[in-house]
Amino acid sequence: MPPVTGRFAPSPTGPLHLGSLVAAAGSWLHAHAANGRWLVRIEDLDTPRVVAGSADEILSTLIRYGLTWDGEVVHQSQRTALYEHALDQLRAHHRVFDCACSRADLQRAASAPLGQEPVYPGTCRNGLPPNKPPRAIRFRATSEVITFTDALAGTIEDTADDFVVRRADGLFAYQLAVVVDDAEQGVTQVVRGADLLPSTARQIALQRALGYPTPSYAHLPLVTNPDGAKLSKRDAALPLPTLDADRVRDSLAIALHHLGLAVAADDPRVMLEEARERLRRAGPAGSAKGLA
Ligand code: GLU
Repeated sequence: MPPVTGRFAPSPTGPLHLGSLVAAAGSWLHAHAANGRWLVRIEDLDTPRVVAGSADEILSTLIRYGLTWDGEVVHQSQRTALYEHALDQLRAHHRVFDCACSRADLQRAASAPLGQEPVYPGTCRNGLPPNKPPRAIRFRATSEVITFTDALAGTIEDTADDFVVRRADGLFAYQLAVVVDDAEQGVTQVVRGADLLPSTARQIALQRALGYPTPSYAHLPLVTNPDGAKLSKRDAALPLPTLDADRVRDSLAIALHHLGLAVAADDPRVMLEEARERLRRAGPAGSAKGLA
Protein backbone atom coordinates (compact mmCIF):
# COMPACT_ATOMS: atom_id res chain seq x y z
CA MET A 1 0.00 0.00 0.00
CA PRO A 2 1.42 3.43 -0.88
CA PRO A 3 1.74 5.81 2.09
CA VAL A 4 -1.34 7.98 2.66
CA THR A 5 -0.61 11.27 0.95
CA GLY A 6 -2.85 14.30 0.80
CA ARG A 7 -2.21 17.69 -0.72
CA PHE A 8 -3.27 21.30 -0.97
CA ALA A 9 -2.83 22.84 -4.40
CA PRO A 10 -3.50 26.59 -4.36
CA SER A 11 -3.30 28.77 -7.46
CA PRO A 12 -1.22 31.85 -6.59
CA THR A 13 -3.76 34.33 -7.90
CA GLY A 14 -4.15 36.24 -4.64
CA PRO A 15 -4.10 35.75 -0.88
CA LEU A 16 -5.87 32.83 0.77
CA HIS A 17 -9.43 33.41 1.96
CA LEU A 18 -11.76 31.45 4.18
CA GLY A 19 -12.75 29.06 1.38
CA SER A 20 -9.13 28.17 0.75
CA LEU A 21 -8.52 27.73 4.48
CA VAL A 22 -11.33 25.16 4.57
CA ALA A 23 -9.68 23.22 1.72
CA ALA A 24 -6.23 23.51 3.30
CA ALA A 25 -7.34 22.51 6.81
CA GLY A 26 -9.69 19.80 5.47
CA SER A 27 -6.95 18.14 3.42
CA TRP A 28 -4.38 18.55 6.24
CA LEU A 29 -6.74 16.94 8.77
CA HIS A 30 -7.76 14.12 6.48
CA ALA A 31 -4.11 13.23 5.76
CA HIS A 32 -2.95 13.61 9.36
CA ALA A 33 -5.89 11.66 10.80
CA ALA A 34 -4.60 8.73 8.72
CA ASN A 35 -0.98 9.42 9.83
CA GLY A 36 -0.22 10.42 6.27
CA ARG A 37 1.86 13.08 4.59
CA TRP A 38 0.48 16.42 3.44
CA LEU A 39 2.03 18.14 0.45
CA VAL A 40 1.68 21.67 -0.88
CA ARG A 41 1.82 22.32 -4.60
CA ILE A 42 1.72 25.80 -6.09
CA GLU A 43 -0.44 25.66 -9.22
CA ASP A 44 1.18 28.54 -11.11
CA LEU A 45 0.76 27.18 -14.63
CA ASP A 46 -1.76 29.77 -15.72
CA THR A 47 0.90 32.46 -15.79
CA PRO A 48 -1.37 35.31 -16.97
CA ARG A 49 -3.40 34.88 -13.76
CA VAL A 50 -0.46 34.56 -11.38
CA VAL A 51 -0.07 37.48 -8.98
CA ALA A 52 3.57 38.21 -8.15
CA GLY A 53 4.42 37.47 -4.52
CA SER A 54 1.21 35.58 -3.77
CA ALA A 55 2.84 32.11 -3.67
CA ASP A 56 5.13 33.22 -0.84
CA GLU A 57 2.24 34.96 0.87
CA ILE A 58 0.15 31.77 0.69
CA LEU A 59 2.98 29.71 2.19
CA SER A 60 3.53 32.09 5.09
CA THR A 61 -0.22 32.20 5.74
CA LEU A 62 -0.32 28.39 5.90
CA ILE A 63 2.51 28.43 8.45
CA ARG A 64 0.71 31.11 10.47
CA TYR A 65 -2.32 28.81 10.66
CA GLY A 66 -0.25 25.82 11.77
CA LEU A 67 -0.64 24.09 8.41
CA THR A 68 2.91 22.93 7.85
CA TRP A 69 3.68 20.56 5.01
CA ASP A 70 5.93 17.59 4.35
CA GLY A 71 8.76 17.66 1.83
CA GLU A 72 9.50 20.36 -0.70
CA VAL A 73 6.83 22.66 -2.10
CA VAL A 74 6.61 22.04 -5.85
CA HIS A 75 5.70 24.67 -8.45
CA GLN A 76 3.88 23.56 -11.58
CA SER A 77 5.68 26.17 -13.67
CA GLN A 78 8.85 24.13 -13.13
CA ARG A 79 7.35 20.82 -14.14
CA THR A 80 6.39 21.31 -17.77
CA ALA A 81 8.70 18.47 -18.89
CA LEU A 82 6.45 16.05 -16.95
CA TYR A 83 3.32 17.38 -18.66
CA GLU A 84 5.04 17.24 -22.05
CA HIS A 85 5.90 13.60 -21.42
CA ALA A 86 2.31 12.74 -20.44
CA LEU A 87 1.01 14.52 -23.53
CA ASP A 88 3.41 12.46 -25.70
CA GLN A 89 2.05 9.30 -24.08
CA LEU A 90 -1.55 10.38 -24.77
CA ARG A 91 -0.65 11.20 -28.35
CA ALA A 92 1.06 7.84 -28.85
CA HIS A 93 -2.17 6.16 -27.72
CA HIS A 94 -4.38 8.40 -29.89
CA ARG A 95 -6.03 9.87 -26.82
CA VAL A 96 -5.61 13.51 -27.88
CA PHE A 97 -6.30 15.48 -31.04
CA ASP A 98 -5.47 18.90 -32.40
CA CYS A 99 -8.31 21.38 -32.44
CA ALA A 100 -8.57 24.48 -34.64
CA CYS A 101 -11.71 25.92 -33.08
CA SER A 102 -11.64 29.38 -31.60
CA ARG A 103 -13.93 30.30 -28.75
CA ALA A 104 -16.22 32.08 -31.23
CA ASP A 105 -16.32 28.95 -33.47
CA LEU A 106 -17.38 26.85 -30.50
CA GLN A 107 -19.95 29.33 -29.35
CA ARG A 108 -21.49 29.31 -32.83
CA ALA A 109 -21.33 25.55 -33.33
CA ALA A 110 -22.85 24.75 -29.97
CA SER A 111 -25.12 27.80 -29.88
CA ALA A 112 -24.26 28.22 -26.21
CA PRO A 113 -25.39 31.35 -24.41
CA LEU A 114 -22.65 33.95 -24.22
CA GLY A 115 -20.32 33.50 -21.29
CA GLN A 116 -21.23 29.84 -20.81
CA GLU A 117 -18.67 27.17 -21.71
CA PRO A 118 -20.10 25.38 -24.75
CA VAL A 119 -20.06 21.57 -24.95
CA TYR A 120 -17.45 20.70 -27.55
CA PRO A 121 -19.33 19.59 -30.69
CA GLY A 122 -16.53 17.32 -31.95
CA THR A 123 -15.59 19.52 -34.93
CA CYS A 124 -11.90 18.47 -35.12
CA ARG A 125 -12.12 14.96 -33.68
CA ASN A 126 -11.51 13.35 -37.04
CA GLY A 127 -9.07 15.89 -38.45
CA LEU A 128 -8.67 19.63 -38.80
CA PRO A 129 -10.92 21.47 -41.24
CA PRO A 130 -9.03 22.45 -44.43
CA ASN A 131 -6.70 25.45 -44.08
CA LYS A 132 -7.26 25.78 -40.35
CA PRO A 133 -4.13 25.70 -38.17
CA PRO A 134 -4.19 23.76 -34.88
CA ARG A 135 -4.77 25.84 -31.76
CA ALA A 136 -5.48 23.75 -28.67
CA ILE A 137 -5.00 20.04 -27.97
CA ARG A 138 -8.01 18.12 -26.65
CA PHE A 139 -8.45 14.83 -24.83
CA ARG A 140 -10.29 12.25 -26.93
CA ALA A 141 -13.01 11.11 -24.55
CA THR A 142 -14.88 7.82 -24.82
CA SER A 143 -18.50 7.18 -23.93
CA GLU A 144 -17.39 5.28 -20.80
CA VAL A 145 -19.44 6.18 -17.74
CA ILE A 146 -17.08 7.02 -14.90
CA THR A 147 -18.32 5.97 -11.49
CA PHE A 148 -16.55 7.04 -8.34
CA THR A 149 -17.40 7.42 -4.68
CA ASP A 150 -16.82 10.78 -3.14
CA ALA A 151 -16.50 10.58 0.65
CA LEU A 152 -18.95 13.47 1.00
CA ALA A 153 -20.96 13.68 -2.21
CA GLY A 154 -21.54 9.91 -2.43
CA THR A 155 -21.55 7.86 -5.63
CA ILE A 156 -21.15 9.94 -8.76
CA GLU A 157 -21.70 8.78 -12.33
CA ASP A 158 -20.39 11.09 -14.99
CA THR A 159 -18.72 11.10 -18.41
CA ALA A 160 -15.73 13.07 -19.61
CA ASP A 161 -15.89 15.35 -22.64
CA ASP A 162 -13.23 16.28 -25.19
CA PHE A 163 -11.68 18.82 -22.83
CA VAL A 164 -8.56 20.90 -23.51
CA VAL A 165 -5.24 19.52 -22.24
CA ARG A 166 -3.04 22.14 -23.88
CA ARG A 167 -4.43 25.60 -24.48
CA ALA A 168 -4.23 27.71 -27.63
CA ASP A 169 -1.66 29.91 -25.86
CA GLY A 170 0.58 26.86 -25.43
CA LEU A 171 0.03 26.49 -21.68
CA PHE A 172 -0.83 23.10 -20.26
CA ALA A 173 -4.34 22.99 -18.90
CA TYR A 174 -5.12 22.49 -15.21
CA GLN A 175 -6.79 19.10 -15.85
CA LEU A 176 -3.64 17.54 -17.30
CA ALA A 177 -1.21 19.11 -14.83
CA VAL A 178 -3.22 18.15 -11.75
CA VAL A 179 -3.49 14.51 -12.85
CA VAL A 180 0.21 14.22 -13.69
CA ASP A 181 1.26 15.89 -10.45
CA ASP A 182 -1.05 13.90 -8.20
CA ALA A 183 0.29 10.66 -9.73
CA GLU A 184 3.92 11.75 -9.75
CA GLN A 185 3.73 12.92 -6.12
CA GLY A 186 2.03 9.73 -4.96
CA VAL A 187 -1.14 11.52 -3.84
CA THR A 188 -3.66 8.97 -2.52
CA GLN A 189 -6.38 11.34 -1.29
CA VAL A 190 -7.75 14.49 -2.86
CA VAL A 191 -9.70 16.72 -0.46
CA ARG A 192 -10.75 20.03 -2.06
CA GLY A 193 -13.68 22.34 -2.64
CA ALA A 194 -16.94 21.10 -4.18
CA ASP A 195 -16.44 23.49 -7.11
CA LEU A 196 -13.99 20.90 -8.48
CA LEU A 197 -16.42 17.96 -8.28
CA PRO A 198 -17.45 18.45 -11.96
CA SER A 199 -13.77 18.17 -12.99
CA THR A 200 -13.29 14.82 -11.30
CA ALA A 201 -14.64 12.57 -14.08
CA ARG A 202 -12.31 14.30 -16.55
CA GLN A 203 -9.39 13.73 -14.22
CA ILE A 204 -10.26 10.05 -13.68
CA ALA A 205 -10.58 9.59 -17.47
CA LEU A 206 -7.08 11.03 -17.86
CA GLN A 207 -5.72 8.83 -15.06
CA ARG A 208 -7.09 5.77 -16.82
CA ALA A 209 -5.70 6.85 -20.20
CA LEU A 210 -2.27 7.36 -18.63
CA GLY A 211 -2.33 4.18 -16.52
CA TYR A 212 -2.26 6.08 -13.21
CA PRO A 213 -4.03 5.00 -10.00
CA THR A 214 -7.12 6.96 -8.92
CA PRO A 215 -6.89 8.62 -5.49
CA SER A 216 -9.83 8.82 -3.08
CA TYR A 217 -11.91 11.98 -3.31
CA ALA A 218 -13.70 14.19 -0.80
CA HIS A 219 -15.20 17.45 -2.06
CA LEU A 220 -15.90 19.87 0.76
CA PRO A 221 -19.03 22.02 0.80
CA LEU A 222 -18.15 25.53 -0.32
CA VAL A 223 -18.14 28.45 2.04
CA THR A 224 -20.59 30.90 0.55
CA ASN A 225 -21.35 34.57 0.90
CA PRO A 226 -24.56 35.40 2.77
CA ASP A 227 -26.29 35.56 -0.65
CA GLY A 228 -25.20 31.97 -1.37
CA ALA A 229 -22.59 32.87 -4.01
CA LYS A 230 -19.26 31.07 -3.91
CA LEU A 231 -16.60 32.92 -1.97
CA SER A 232 -13.62 33.25 -4.27
CA LYS A 233 -10.57 35.38 -4.78
CA ARG A 234 -12.21 36.83 -7.86
CA ASP A 235 -15.18 37.92 -5.78
CA ALA A 236 -12.66 39.86 -3.73
CA ALA A 237 -13.20 37.62 -0.72
CA LEU A 238 -11.34 39.00 2.22
CA PRO A 239 -7.75 37.81 2.64
CA LEU A 240 -7.25 35.73 5.78
CA PRO A 241 -5.90 37.73 8.69
CA THR A 242 -2.33 36.86 9.61
CA LEU A 243 -1.19 39.49 12.10
CA ASP A 244 -3.69 39.52 14.94
CA ALA A 245 -3.59 36.22 16.88
CA ASP A 246 -7.26 36.45 17.94
CA ARG A 247 -8.40 36.93 14.37
CA VAL A 248 -6.23 34.04 13.18
CA ARG A 249 -7.80 31.80 15.84
CA ASP A 250 -11.32 32.97 14.95
CA SER A 251 -10.80 32.32 11.22
CA LEU A 252 -9.45 28.85 11.89
CA ALA A 253 -12.36 28.19 14.28
CA ILE A 254 -14.85 29.14 11.54
CA ALA A 255 -13.09 26.87 9.04
CA LEU A 256 -13.06 23.93 11.48
CA HIS A 257 -16.69 24.54 12.37
CA HIS A 258 -17.53 24.44 8.64
CA LEU A 259 -15.74 21.07 8.52
CA GLY A 260 -17.90 19.75 11.36
CA LEU A 261 -14.91 19.78 13.73
CA ALA A 262 -15.45 22.72 16.05
CA VAL A 263 -12.81 22.81 18.80
CA ALA A 264 -12.17 25.11 21.71
CA ALA A 265 -8.52 26.12 21.88
CA ASP A 266 -6.42 29.20 21.30
CA ASP A 267 -3.33 28.15 19.44
CA PRO A 268 -3.74 27.07 15.78
CA ARG A 269 -1.49 24.01 16.25
CA VAL A 270 -3.47 22.88 19.28
CA MET A 271 -6.75 23.46 17.45
CA LEU A 272 -5.59 21.38 14.50
CA GLU A 273 -4.30 18.62 16.79
CA GLU A 274 -7.65 18.43 18.58
CA ALA A 275 -9.58 18.39 15.32
CA ARG A 276 -7.26 15.69 13.99
CA GLU A 277 -7.81 13.56 17.11
CA ARG A 278 -11.56 13.88 16.73
CA LEU A 279 -11.37 12.89 13.12
CA ARG A 280 -9.08 10.00 13.91
CA ARG A 281 -11.35 8.70 16.66
CA ALA A 282 -14.27 8.80 14.23
CA GLY A 283 -12.40 6.19 12.10
CA PRO A 284 -12.18 5.99 8.33
CA ALA A 285 -15.95 5.78 7.80
CA GLY A 286 -16.73 8.51 10.27
CA SER A 287 -13.81 10.66 9.21
CA ALA A 288 -15.50 11.57 5.96
CA LYS A 289 -18.63 12.58 7.82
CA GLY A 290 -16.61 14.63 10.27
CA LEU A 291 -15.43 16.67 7.34
CA ALA A 292 -18.67 18.37 6.52
N1 GLU B 1 -5.47 25.00 -8.00
C1 GLU B 1 -6.86 24.75 -7.79
C2 GLU B 1 -7.49 25.96 -7.10
O1 GLU B 1 -6.79 26.76 -6.51
C3 GLU B 1 -7.12 23.52 -6.94
C4 GLU B 1 -6.80 22.26 -7.65
C5 GLU B 1 -7.14 20.97 -6.95
O2 GLU B 1 -7.22 20.94 -5.71
O3 GLU B 1 -7.29 19.97 -7.65
O4 GLU B 1 -8.69 26.09 -7.18
